[in-house]
Amino acid sequence: MLNKTMSRNCVDFIDDAKITSIIENTREDAGRVRAIIAKSMEKKPLEVEETAALIAAESPELVEEIFNAARQLKKDVYGNRIVLFAPLYIGNFCVNDCKYCAFRRSLRSTVRKTLSPAETIQQVEALEDVGHKRLILVFGEHPDYTPEFMADTVRTVYTVKKGKGEIRRVNINAAPLDHAGFKTMKDSGIGTYQIFQETYNHAMYQECHPSQTHKGDYLWRLDGLSRAFESGCDDMGIGALFGLYDWRFEVLGLITHSLHLQNIYNVGPHTISFPRLRPAHGISLDQKNLVNDHDFKRLVAILRLAVPYTGLICTARETAEIRREVMQFGVSQIDAGTRLELGGYSEKDRKGQELKREQFQIGDVRSLDEVMGELIHEGYIPSFCTSCYRLGRTGEHFMEYAIPGFIQRFCTPNAMTTLCEYLEDYASDEVRKSGFELISKELEKMTDEKQKKMITERIAEIRIAGKRDLYF
Ligand code: SAM
Ligand code: SF4
Repeated sequence: MLNKTMSRNCVDFIDDAKITSIIENTREDAGRVRAIIAKSMEKKPLEVEETAALIAAESPELVEEIFNAARQLKKDVYGNRIVLFAPLYIGNFCVNDCKYCAFRRSLRSTVRKTLSPAETIQQVEALEDVGHKRLILVFGEHPDYTPEFMADTVRTVYTVKKGKGEIRRVNINAAPLDHAGFKTMKDSGIGTYQIFQETYNHAMYQECHPSQTHKGDYLWRLDGLSRAFESGCDDMGIGALFGLYDWRFEVLGLITHSLHLQNIYNVGPHTISFPRLRPAHGISLDQKNLVNDHDFKRLVAILRLAVPYTGLICTARETAEIRREVMQFGVSQIDAGTRLELGGYSEKDRKGQELKREQFQIGDVRSLDEVMGELIHEGYIPSFCTSCYRLGRTGEHFMEYAIPGFIQRFCTPNAMTTLCEYLEDYASDEVRKSGFELISKELEKMTDEKQKKMITERIAEIRIAGKRDLYF
């Protein structure tokens, strides 16, 4: 039985009228926008009102300045790494009735399935076979998907070792739990626990999530990650489903949520996701609030400037072209080789999606190797690094951006060694060749001779001695 005790400082921190009034009363002001950009460039998180000022900047020149600043901030703060992961849907039974989702309970024609432990192993093996190291497990909300079941699934995933493959980090996207449930999840060794608020607007939330369903409880969901933190899960992912309500409201909702976590727990969210609503089996939705590509790029750039320390995730819901563009503005994680149908990763010969088995239609259907090839071609270092969370560098201790030189000392070397593993074990000939060229170029760029030597030695250990999982 769910214990409906809220977090210690539980409060509904989303004031719809206030957010709406900030949006309506903020006018474009070039001088203010430039001052706010200057603050972001010092890596200081923005307040809600400052974020609203960036949103109000609509003239092409100012929008271009925001894009350029986001590009620059991304380079300064993050370097050229992109972290790769894959989603793994474990079960799509659901007691909720979210009006945008093909898994909603009233949709009888959806093909329902929960992977058995043996089927989960089969899927994980298929993912390891192509080189994945980081997964996010996705669950509907259902009495069968108890914290114990989800925790057992996490443990099962970590045991699967095929060839040189293994999964080193398992994240979760599932319903909000009670304190004990989050503790059970933490004890199973998860990385991030992701919960998307879907829409921060109360009225729209109620419209999308019938009140007699679990998910109909706005505050239980809003408070979810606070309970997670209090239960030891200090690695939290927030998100909004863009397209349900005014995108400007959702951006300010995300920033309010992020500031709330930061103020109460001294730890902001580790990641922010901004999925855009996609067509899905059995769904016909009001198109009125769909976000166009231009505004989508703006919102990614604005989020980058507003929360310099937070990872930004852009999933395969977006096309390859849009992902390419928003990666420049600071997206730090993407999924690749994505299959949403339950059991889909082992169905090697099937082309295209089978929407009755899936949550929504995706925009980027390329394989992991194709995505790796493109990233390398564009000068990014694709990374499968999992070092920080395994060394306990999470929550308050997560210093990736905060400590000067951290990225050069840890992130870039770990990206290079995990890329090297991928190139040795899984890459096509072409990707292998271009990947090793990229590694050589990155080594040439390094000015710290001691570090260069250390990384060169690690790469040799991987390539010649066959060692794996070496991290800084
Ligand atoms: N059942 C869990 C929950 O609701 O929190 C897991 C969420 S679901 C499997 C993952 C996310 O997919 C949802 O939080 C929602 O934001 C998103 N989603 C659902 N339907 C979608 C659609 N039609 N297009 C794009 N994203 C969608
Ligand atoms: Fe269920 Fe989640 Fe889909 Fe809502 S979004 S119907 S809770 S799987």
